[in-house]
Amino acid sequence: MPKYVYDFIEGDRSRADLLGGKGANLAEMTRLGLPVPPGFTISTDACRAYLATGTPPAGLFEEVNAHLREVEARLDRWLGDARDPLLLAVRSGGRYSMPGMMETILDIGLNDTTVGGLAARSGDERFAWDSYRRLIQMFGHTVYGVPTEEFAHELESVRATAGAAGPSAGQLRDLVETYKKIFARHVGRDFPQAPHEQLFLAVNSVFESWNSERARIYRRQERIPDDLGTAVNVMAMVFGNLGPDSGTGVAFTRDPATGARGVYGDYLADAQGEDVVAGIRNTTPLPELERIDPVSFRRLMEIMDTLERHYRDLCDIEFTIERGTLWMLQTRVGKRTAAAAFVIAAQLVDEGLISADEALTRVTGAQLAQLMFPAFDLTGAPGPLAVGVGASPGAAVGRVVFDSAAAAAATDPVILVRRETNPDDLPGMIAAAGVLTSRGGKTSHAAVVARGMGRTCVCGADALAIDAERGEFTVGDEVVRAGDVISIDGTSGRIWRGPVPVQPSPVSRYLAGELSPQADPLVAAVHRLLDHADAVRRLGVRANADTPEDARRARRLGAGGVGLCRTEHMFLGERRELVERLILAEGPAEREAALAALLPLQRADFAGILAAMDGLPVTIRLLDPPLHEFLPALPELTARVARAEALGADPGRDGTLLAAVRRMHESNPMLGLRGVRLGLVVPGLFAMQVRAVAEAAAQRRRAGGDPRPELMVPLVGDVRELAAVRLEAERVLAEVADAPEIPIGTMIEVPRAALTAGEIAAEAHFFSFGTNDLTQTTWAFSRDDVEGSFFGAYLERGIFPVSPFESIDAKGVGRLIRLAVAEGRAARPELTVGVCGEHGGDPESVAFFADAGLDYVSCSPYRVPIARLAAGRAAV
Ligand code: ADP
Ligand code: MG
Ligand code: MG
Repeated sequence: MPKYVYDFIEGDRSRADLLGGKGANLAEMTRLGLPVPPGFTISTDACRAYLATGTPPAGLFEEVNAHLREVEARLDRWLGDARDPLLLAVRSGGRYSMPGMMETILDIGLNDTTVGGLAARSGDERFAWDSYRRLIQMFGHTVYGVPTEEFAHELESVRATAGAAGPSAGQLRDLVETYKKIFARHVGRDFPQAPHEQLFLAVNSVFESWNSERARIYRRQERIPDDLGTAVNVMAMVFGNLGPDSGTGVAFTRDPATGARGVYGDYLADAQGEDVVAGIRNTTPLPELERIDPVSFRRLMEIMDTLERHYRDLCDIEFTIERGTLWMLQTRVGKRTAAAAFVIAAQLVDEGLISADEALTRVTGAQLAQLMFPAFDLTGAPGPLAVGVGASPGAAVGRVVFDSAAAAAATDPVILVRRETNPDDLPGMIAAAGVLTSRGGKTSHAAVVARGMGRTCVCGADALAIDAERGEFTVGDEVVRAGDVISIDGTSGRIWRGPVPVQPSPVSRYLAGELSPQADPLVAAVHRLLDHADAVRRLGVRANADTPEDARRARRLGAGGVGLCRTEHMFLGERRELVERLILAEGPAEREAALAALLPLQRADFAGILAAMDGLPVTIRLLDPPLHEFLPALPELTARVARAEALGADPGRDGTLLAAVRRMHESNPMLGLRGVRLGLVVPGLFAMQVRAVAEAAAQRRRAGGDPRPELMVPLVGDVRELAAVRLEAERVLAEVADAPEIPIGTMIEVPRAALTAGEIAAEAHFFSFGTNDLTQTTWAFSRDDVEGSFFGAYLERGIFPVSPFESIDAKGVGRLIRLAVAEGRAARPELTVGVCGEHGGDPESVAFFADAGLDYVSCSPYRVPIARLAAGRAAV
């Protein structure tokens, strides 16, 4: 018989796969001797078995009952006992935190009899009836899908007739009767009175909540696998709604928005936990608990300290105080903003809790990318319309929309404005540029979810009176309608009418050399972690740069050279005409004249880039795209010629061009006459480029510089192609006095090159994987054609976990890379190997390239810091 159920005292935090994050951490806290109500966890194995067959696995009920009896014995209190009933919480919790996405049912065990026992034991009849009505509502909704609004509506009308002190016990008892009727009408049976039946129905519906629509959407967004299943935690209830000396709250050991140390969280007196998270009632800032209940406050601070030292990281916590006794209901290593991640990692190093190497594992390249986003430029901006709580940083500008569907459908940036959000708003939150709510604090649903996905969010802006029906909100007598543009600042919580201009963030200004590394705690933390990444990484980081400005920018951002200098842009603009002359040349004399005109221009281009990267390698790629890309497009030319002919005029040059375009037309230009093929069939083209590079380098040397150009041949599939180009190039190089040694290498970007890398290495000083083309040619799809067509469906269906153009396909394309590295190095041990596709700036791909033993990655200049960090992470 497999084991499915684990008492909290059996588990620990290393078993999150089996027990879910919540269960594993409840077990960990229990082991640490912290006050956790007793309970047990039903494993994710059981959930997967349930989801596969639609019924609980054999023996599960017996096993649950056995563990329940132990809990009952420990508390000396029984489920269903009419005089002193044990009540249970049944809580979801998978491997990865999915806040509010799955179900939790509280107060299991109440029925028409036990409600009396609860009233007697607690001495609070109102509390007992209120708990019963909560159970019917939560259970009805979760297990049977009874609409919450029907219950909420009845509750509202009772509250409306009750006095300031709230509904009386009698009113609540009547409300329970009404609730039971609503339940029976929707479900077609009476509310189950048997506590064990309640328990098992609740467990099954928690299993099922794994596959709810919102849980699936959330997983796709967060890239959490769909087949993990959730664990179910069953534990004794404790009550925060037993009067003013009770309450419930959420706390963070540091500020999850900025990383600052202090007391952060929200507290709600006389309330049950879900009231806080739902953001329904306005909460008290946690520091005030010190005044309300100093003993519990001090105990909580101690526990938070214990947890931080134990987990060596920011923790977030859910707790409840029942009549002055503190209970821990949840903890986990808390989600945080990108800024907080950097600041906290640096602080923990200072506090001696983690090493600098470990600090690198606490931040990601994606987080650094977020910190490089622009921020609002407030010079001359009007005063804000209102100020809420800055819940998730960022500067968002967009049109106001009031419902999630409209946000999801919008094609331009929108700000989703809601009183509060709930899990059904997820599609809208994903689509929106920012989220703004009028209720709830830093721990409300809106705040937690937005932070998790890096979405800008301002919440709790209670000056806003939102009327979604009318499609407007008002602040005082200002009216903002759906479609009006607003700007929200997720750091300061400020809200402006109209668009506020944005400017570079402090981190990007620091990276550009405009701010000192000590400018603020965040910049200092970024500086420190990048420094450490540079110290430990084995992978070099170069940049793709085609102009001296790009090269200079890349160098400031920490690039160790140029890994890809494309030359095609050097043939555009006014030079197009020279290329046309080259293409249309009739005979060697005209061709040589065209090339001779291009030579000095190219030389100057290269001299500029070599100067910007003095002392560092600059890999220059010989011309790659098909030549007809430099000619006017066929429809445009055809129209021009037709117009001329209609007017009876001679189309002249256009006529010749049209003939050339028709002659050179290709059905699949990506697979046509380009790259090395061009060099081999257009006499003198590559020789001219090689000469320009060599002469530019010679010129720089004579001027005292240290130019380090490298020549790179694109699209090679066979060693003989490369050998032919190399022979010609070396002849040219030998003719240029004062040129440095210039290595000649090749791109590996078609499968045949990877498969014959050993042979190719005999002719190549270096390899550079062109992973964009290698991905296209390995999968046989053209990026321009597929991204807008079936990629969406493939991502949706999970055929791609992520686009292979974004993160390297390690299994397929990656295998070719590993093979080529191994065979290339076997043939030529000193072979330098890099990568210059866009994958070079993708953190996940960088980790792969480090593992594959590459020497460097090359990426766009602004991704250089991200690649440096990712390379550092890959080395620890
Ligand atoms: P989520 O994963 O959505 O946060 P939880 O399982 O944590 O869901 O439950 C939601 C709320 O229910 C918690 O915030 C907590 O305050 C309350 N709760 C959970 N377990 C108990 C318990 N044993 N006693 C009292 N309240 C509980
Ligand atoms: Mg929780
Ligand atoms: Mg290519």
